[in-house]
Amino acid sequence: MTFEPTTHDAAGRIAHLTTPHGTITTPTLLPVINPNKTLITPHDMTTLFHTDILITNSYIIYKDPHLRQQALDHGLHHLLNFQGTIMTDSGTFQSHVYGDVHLEPLQIVDFQRHIGSDIGTILDIFSEPHHTHTQAQTDITETIRRASISIPHKGTMMLACPVQGGIYPDLRTHCAQELSNLHADLYPIGGVVPLMETQRYTDLTNVIIASKQGLDPSRPVHLFGAGHPLIFPLAVALGCDLFDSSAYAKYAADDRYLLPWGTEKLPDLTDLPCPCPICSTHTASELQAMTGDERVRALALHNLYVSYAELRTIRAAIAGGWLWELVEQRAASNPALADALRLLREPNAQRFLEMHEPRSKARAIRYTGTATIFRPLLQRFQDQLLTRYESPYTTTIVIPERGKPFAAYYPELVKVLSALAADVVVDSSFGPVPLALDEMFPCAQSLFPGIVDDETRHEASRRLQDFLGKKTVIAWSPGGRFPDALTGPALDLDTRRIRAVADMQFGRGAGAILFSGRLQLVKSKATLKIRNVLVDGEHVVSMRAADGMFTLKLAGARRLLSGFAAPLLRVTVNDDAVPFVRDGKSVFSKFVSGCDPGLRLGDECLIVDGQDALLGVGRLLLCPGEMGVFQVGVAVKMREGSGGEVDAS
Ligand SMILES: [Zn+2]
Repeated sequence: MTFEPTTHDAAGRIAHLTTPHGTITTPTLLPVINPNKTLITPHDMTTLFHTDILITNSYIIYKDPHLRQQALDHGLHHLLNFQGTIMTDSGTFQSHVYGDVHLEPLQIVDFQRHIGSDIGTILDIFSEPHHTHTQAQTDITETIRRASISIPHKGTMMLACPVQGGIYPDLRTHCAQELSNLHADLYPIGGVVPLMETQRYTDLTNVIIASKQGLDPSRPVHLFGAGHPLIFPLAVALGCDLFDSSAYAKYAADDRYLLPWGTEKLPDLTDLPCPCPICSTHTASELQAMTGDERVRALALHNLYVSYAELRTIRAAIAGGWLWELVEQRAASNPALADALRLLREPNAQRFLEMHEPRSKARAIRYTGTATIFRPLLQRFQDQLLTRYESPYTTTIVIPERGKPFAAYYPELVKVLSALAADVVVDSSFGPVPLALDEMFPCAQSLFPGIVDDETRHEASRRLQDFLGKKTVIAWSPGGRFPDALTGPALDLDTRRIRAVADMQFGRGAGAILFSGRLQLVKSKATLKIRNVLVDGEHVVSMRAADGMFTLKLAGARRLLSGFAAPLLRVTVNDDAVPFVRDGKSVFSKFVSGCDPGLRLGDECLIVDGQDALLGVGRLLLCPGEMGVFQVGVAVKMREGSGGEVDAS
């Protein structure tokens, strides 16, 4: 089994999960197949939906003498007539709901292995949301015990060990840590169906975050029993990779019509608001007039089309960097989900999300409403403004936002900057932005409407007051004169820009470290934007047009290495990898022995050996917490190795 992430957005990821029956791209959906009552056959699912992974219940097969014998004689894939990956559940839920499961934990693990399940599940203990802390604690102790005795029995089968712990974050994190120490292959988050059925999405959000905080990040996470597409975007943004749906069939049996933003009752519909093949070829009244079985099957097909389409939307959103926008849009259509989104502003959730949030994105952040200003990326920018940005002047001039990039709308001000001994800060829709940072992500790369909501305005103004603190602030309106005391030799916009971006990107003081010496700026002839910065003839950084941030060159890396003490800005590799990295080969995760916890996905970094000697520069493809934990895949994409330059761009 391998699990390798390729693209990240929020705490979500697109990854490839390889099992003996193929490679699956996650996040994805595992339709639930009931071997006793097949509404849509696995064969039809493959044809209609390209289903490459599904889930069935091994306990149902075990309980039925005929099915059991068939599965033992010919294997599970033959029984279901499906050649993709099959995951099996263990009967935990049946045991919990009906109490009639008489199984030994090892018996059901052995059975799943014998019938050829690709991913089996241990018989864990289901905790209800109303269970007390003590009861939930007793139950996770037993779940952990069962995991520890089951794992040695798994053979070549992958084994899933569900995280339990009721609604108690401490128990969820503890259970997740203990299970991670046992090195299971996959981690479902269990015991959440009652939360989803009652739309307790804030509890669900807390449970997912607490579980993720204890889990081995290199393993896929499955949200057990989540089958309504409404919850998929948020769950993926919090780091869930797999979902299983019996909802498509259960809802269909009850005449319920799934939509990405909620559920409709079929009898209430006068039109079908969906482009799937079922809804495109039938009218609402035709669907309503169908006989029972026919209607249930048609509805189940529609429900699956919608569910798969939502997963495709989510993967497109991760790849395009707009997962947050999707989460916010879905939350706008469901008040319980809106409450869950609001919870993400809390410090613990912010810490978790910020750690995973890439440094920049391929496209601009779009305002969707009151949640946008609290997005981890915008919060991070404002937080780092306080800790990393340092104005070279004691006086600050605050100007209103006119358009983006800010400086382009203040040509008269830009012209006099080199004779204005003051910092210039824009009072923007998401808080203060020094004029020198106007092209850096996310300042130019964020779209806010002309008029924002009151909560956003209030938060932006709070951030501005925080930033200004005890600074001397001068009021100035466009066209006005500056006080004589401020006129005198000062830095021009270009110099202010490279220093400010370096400080924000690498840490306070980086601008001074990188750019001390004879400065030479190479600009694009077409856009007049800074492209390369040379110091004493050495090319130290290039500025990227898309996000206004620096690509680090080897000469710049040498300066930062001597200016910032270890482990700052560094990824340390073990000795085996040294010759390869020096030659400019990318750094594989398993060779990483240390990483500055302050680095973020997409950051430029220094790659060093155990003695802190510089081996090269590169860009982070994993979060610091994932490096060295993933046993497959690249952790740092190299830009240049110290042994020879491989990338001149
Ligand atoms: Zn449809």
